[in-house]
Amino acid sequence: MDLAPGGGGEAACGPGRYGGDPGEHHPDRPLAVPHLIEEHPLKADPSAQLKLLEIQELDARADLLRHQLASLPELDEIAALEASRLDLDNQSRDARIAVDDLTVEQKKIDADVEQVKTRRTRDQNRIDQGLISNPKDIERMQHEMVSLQRRIVSLEDEELEVMATLEDAQRTLDSLTAQIEAADERLTALRASRDERGVEIEAELTQLLAGRAPLVEGFPEDLLALYEKLRTNRRGVGAAELRQRRCSGCNINIDAAEIEVIRKAPEDLVIRCEECSRILVRTPESGL
Ligand SMILES: [Zn+2]
Repeated sequence: MDLAPGGGGEAACGPGRYGGDPGEHHPDRPLAVPHLIEEHPLKADPSAQLKLLEIQELDARADLLRHQLASLPELDEIAALEASRLDLDNQSRDARIAVDDLTVEQKKIDADVEQVKTRRTRDQNRIDQGLISNPKDIERMQHEMVSLQRRIVSLEDEELEVMATLEDAQRTLDSLTAQIEAADERLTALRASRDERGVEIEAELTQLLAGRAPLVEGFPEDLLALYEKLRTNRRGVGAAELRQRRCSGCNINIDAAEIEVIRKAPEDLVIRCEECSRILVRTPESGL
């Protein structure tokens, strides 16, 4: 059996290929009889075997569509955006808490200022109205007035600082809100594009599977089961055409002795490729 030009990609998956010159017949194998026929003799009408190639073609196209669905170009960007959107949400929540806290703080200082100012006005009025006559009381009140004025200045300085911090926090929150809106807008567009493409592919897939149903109706169960099992284990290809003495599943040429066995095998005998184990379907193009 020879490796076909450019067909070495599958050489490792077949049985009996553990070194040695690929041009030589493997010494452990019975020379003329492909052992897979002997181990699992399976019979199926030649027309069913041919139909298997049609099923295989449909399944390969369906696999491709499923792969396209799972790897739509929008999906990566959506996932990245959803992750950063979550991060922005957390940052925005923290920023809102900071703004709320600072707003409460500012209002509290503002109220304190008003309270001290009211007290100062009240004291001033009492002095102005001559309600206090005792010189010692007047002196004490004047001291208090100075102290109240200092307190007002200090509170107003504090308030200015809090207001500046609040402005910064509000700016941060506004920026985050804008980023979230932009992310949402992009996400909406991406999801719409993903859904649009997804619907198209799914429609194509549905149509394809509808075409497959009549093909497998009444199909020999054992052959279909073998095909499905091979498809799972052999990268989606369970049945391959024997074309010009070559397995089109693994692209390896079948050697003359095995071709001879296949030529003589009954038409309804299911042949398997010795290299890749796939079901080998004979057609007029097989070169037998
Ligand atoms: Zn093969």
